[in-house]
Amino acid sequence: MLSTITHLECSRCAKTYPHDRLQNLCTCGMPLLARYNLAAAKKTLTPENLSRRAPDMWRYSEVLPGGAPVTLGEGMTPLVRCERLSAALGLTRLYIKDEGLNPTGSFKARGLSAAVTCAKALGAKTLAIPTAGNAGGALAAYAARAGLKAVVAMPRDTPRCNVMECQATGAEVHMIDGLISDCARYVAERKDSEGWFDVSTLKEPYRVEGKKTMGYELWEQFGGRLPDVIFYPTGGGVGMIGMAKAFDEMEAMGWIGAARPRMVVVQAAGCAPVVEAFASGAAHAEFCQNASTIASGLRVPKPLGDFLLLNTLRATGGTAIAISDAEILATGRELAAAEGIFAAPEGAATVAAARHLAARKWLAADEKIVLFNTGTGYKYSEAWEKALAPLTVS
Ligand SMILES: *Cc1c(COP(=O)(O)O)cnc(C)c1O
Repeated sequence: MLSTITHLECSRCAKTYPHDRLQNLCTCGMPLLARYNLAAAKKTLTPENLSRRAPDMWRYSEVLPGGAPVTLGEGMTPLVRCERLSAALGLTRLYIKDEGLNPTGSFKARGLSAAVTCAKALGAKTLAIPTAGNAGGALAAYAARAGLKAVVAMPRDTPRCNVMECQATGAEVHMIDGLISDCARYVAERKDSEGWFDVSTLKEPYRVEGKKTMGYELWEQFGGRLPDVIFYPTGGGVGMIGMAKAFDEMEAMGWIGAARPRMVVVQAAGCAPVVEAFASGAAHAEFCQNASTIASGLRVPKPLGDFLLLNTLRATGGTAIAISDAEILATGRELAAAEGIFAAPEGAATVAAARHLAARKWLAADEKIVLFNTGTGYKYSEAWEKALAPLTVS
């Protein structure tokens, strides 16, 4: 079970880099992606071998970076068939991939487990991250697990739980008056003088690798097939970029053919740069001014990987849709009451998106559809308090 990683390659200009030292962006400013010897990987990454491996994301070690995993048991989250919700939306085969069950309560655990594993193996000592909330919590936890230092920069109005988890796990926390883009500037301006390794979204190559395991898991959990449609609540878009990469790797290993699930970007109405770029046919997103939403993970005014997301949407026949905060909260309550899944607002947004696309007949009733609940509702008490009536003492 060894990594077959061979090198890193720029996602835009294809320039290559060695993987045995710390790397951030390509000299052209774009994200680097990890490449593997897939002919070698497929010899041992077989269904027979997989059936004997531990149920966490490191089961796909051939197509993950090397180094002793810094792990808290992330991955292999439940794929929950939702019959009551399906019926309510006029569909029949709706599933929720419940990423809220990951360590630290969100799928950021996957990306940060991979990133911290590599950073530690390559000698980094202090890891810095600008975050909307959950990525900071995950970095803080995995850095603690690795015995490394974490520096977290987050907007002043980040959900309280995210701030507390970072404090509790011993991170150095900086509250910034602004958005995640301002936090990114804070880290960028200090990282060289402070000796921090920057693990911002897509600015190091391995968070994508951790998140791509969601694509491998879907294939395994559906018995060696992929669903017809995948709904993904998109901030930086790492998970969607990662899954698209996983599907390409799976095709190269002969696991699947050329067909792909239609990918759907779901954003919040108060911050929908990818939805707007998709609608206008643009190759890149415009910076979203005054970005605002209770779905904090979606408050990314301009994703660095916007061109990769837009390419994936167009190549798979997908689409992009924005949902208002009021609808997100109302739908989150419906989801919890129908299926017992108390979701993050980001996850609830995908349910609302599926309802709209079912009503427009963009979805067919018999299609196999996966909605990503990317985090647990428990981390969003301020948001859910707004949606739930206060109780009186009986
Ligand atoms: C970060 C985050 C997102 C967005 O993830 P990306 O892969 O960056 O698009 C969605 N939901 C939650 C709960 C998050 O924490």
